[in-house]
Formats: sequence, structure tokens, C-alpha cells
Amino acid sequence: MTTICIFCGSSMGTHPVYQKAAKAVADFFVKHNIRLVYGGARVGLMKILADTLLENNKEVIGIMPGLLVDKEVAHEGITRLIQVDSMAQRKEKMVEMSDGFIALPGGFGTFDELSEVLIYNQLRIMDKPVGILNTDGYFNAMLDFFDHSVREGFVRAEHRDNLLVSENIEELFRMMQKYNPVSMGKWLEDIKTEAGEK
Ligand code: AMP
Repeated sequence: MTTICIFCGSSMGTHPVYQKAAKAVADFFVKHNIRLVYGGARVGLMKILADTLLENNKEVIGIMPGLLVDKEVAHEGITRLIQVDSMAQRKEKMVEMSDGFIALPGGFGTFDELSEVLIYNQLRIMDKPVGILNTDGYFNAMLDFFDHSVREGFVRAEHRDNLLVSENIEELFRMMQKYNPVSMGKWLEDIKTEAGEK
């Protein structure tokens, strides 16, 4: 069975389009029998995802640091709630348990998790697809900044291109199934040369 980790808002967003997108992703998971790993909360877009899967008797695994469990935002109805000691441990566990990652609209928590898995791929700590569901162009400004970073020589084009983006979950999932890791050899040589090494 495929296990996908979703990063998404602990808020609902100001426009119903975001909630609709979270529901569409959950419906897709139900249809294709995909197991969900997520932050474990019962708030925001996370709640919509978890509730939809649970209503359809699908597996939902939440991973949450104790500090958030104590704040009573944990979803008590999920299949399994894994409690960890820190935010860093949570991300490690998410990486360990999942075959791929999708970011839906969200805030700093979502950006942090997305950056973490992108750098894991870049350093080949893992080789797993990372996608953005770009609902209503929510991530356009961030993607423009990533392109700026490529032009300014801080992000390599192949790493930027390996971040998969679509507004449509079916298309995004198809792209993720064809994921190809970027080889580290040339990139490491280039940054060494840039630093003046022969
Ligand atoms: P944000 O995008 O800032 O709303 O944060 C959501 C993301 O960060 C989720 O993917 C969660 O894994 C994590 N997160 C942030 N806040 C919470 C919360 N209150 N409960 C559970 N997870 C959270």
C-alpha cells in the first residue's frame, strides 16, 4: 500500500476553495486506497483530510510532538497517533513512514515541512517525490521566488524542477509516480569549483 504524507494548514484558509481541495485530495486517497500520514491535528485543512478518510474506513496516521498533544489539538479518532519528543523528530518519522509528500496550502508549519523534505532529497538522505498542490495558485509567489533563487545561483535548476507542481491531485500523483532523483556528483563538483577548489 502507498503511504503519502500531507503537509497542510492548521487553519482553514479564507476561501472555501482550500477546503474543497483538501476534500478532493482525501477522496482521491480513498479511491486509491492510499494511507495518510500527517501532523495529527483535528484543526484546519488537516481535519478535513483526516475526517474524510476516517468516514471511509481508511487508515490515518498522525505524528505529533507531545507539546501539541498537551495543547489538545490532537485528533482522537485516527487509526494511530504517534507521539514524538520534538518537531524535528516528527519530521524524521514522517520521512521514515512515507513514500512521498504533498504540500497543500498552509502557513509556516507547512513551509518548514516542505523545505525539510526538499533538502532531504537534495542531499539524497531520501529519494522520494515531493509535490505541491497549487490550489488556486496559492503557491505562485513562492514558486516565483524559487525561480528567482535559481536565476541568482542559489538553487540549482534540476532541484527546482524536481519539485512537482500541479493544481490537480490526479496529475500531481502521476508526476510523483515518475519521480527521478537528481544525481549529486555534478552538483557537488560545481559548488567545489565555485569555491576555488581544483
Ligand atoms: P501551518 O501550515 O503553519 O498551519 O502548520 C501546519 C503544518 O505544521 C502541518 O502539516 C503540521 O504537521 C504542523 N502543525 C502546525 N501546527 C499544528 C497544530 N496545531 N497541530 C498539529 N500540527 C501542526
